[in-house]
Amino acid sequence: MRPLVLFDLDNTLVDRQRALTDWVAGYQSHHGLSCEQRRWLFGLLADRATPAHFERIRNRFGLAESAGSLWHGYCEDLAAAVICPPDVLSGIEELRTRGWRIGIVTNGATDIQTAKLRATGLADRVDAVCISGEAGVRKPDPALFRKAARRCGISGYEEGGWMVGDNPVNDIGGSRSAGFRTVWIHRGLPWPAGLPGPDHQVPDARAAIELLISCRRQRKELVP
Ligand SMILES: [Mg+2]
Repeated sequence: MRPLVLFDLDNTLVDRQRALTDWVAGYQSHHGLSCEQRRWLFGLLADRATPAHFERIRNRFGLAESAGSLWHGYCEDLAAAVICPPDVLSGIEELRTRGWRIGIVTNGATDIQTAKLRATGLADRVDAVCISGEAGVRKPDPALFRKAARRCGISGYEEGGWMVGDNPVNDIGGSRSAGFRTVWIHRGLPWPAGLPGPDHQVPDARAAIELLISCRRQRKELVP
């Protein structure tokens, strides 16, 4: 059967952390925020951003612009700021050339995640996308990974299903519960104590792709 890999989006395929840091710095400069206000803003949006967060930002800073308009501007800014490294884009293309089915599984609001997928060119390079905002279920719920696999056209993935992501609980724990083998993007951090470990650890998405190709090659040699 065709091998399957699902990737997380934020801080796995794209560097949301850097894009958010730059956006907050620009916002601080534009609105004359104090360092304390900047820290509050970054903390508010660090893990996730939704339209409701921009209602809080509007109230905190006494902004005249509507929360919806602020949210729309943020979506446009972040989509323009994030990039998927060229060697990761080419790696995804190589996986597809080698017969892999590829999906992206991401928690977030549909509009901003879709905007990032389009702006980075990822939307055109994968078989399916599963965004929690439209799927009605969030990682680490195993249902989201199963739904993504089905959207990739694969239902019995247990023999060849992989998940690559940076979040130990949402990406690694959730996908393991759904029967996937796991690759953790560690970015120099140690695995959290007390959690069952991933199958593999690598520094970034390109290294994960190399690992997948290598594991597939070894499996072919073992199972002719
Ligand atoms: Mg992530």
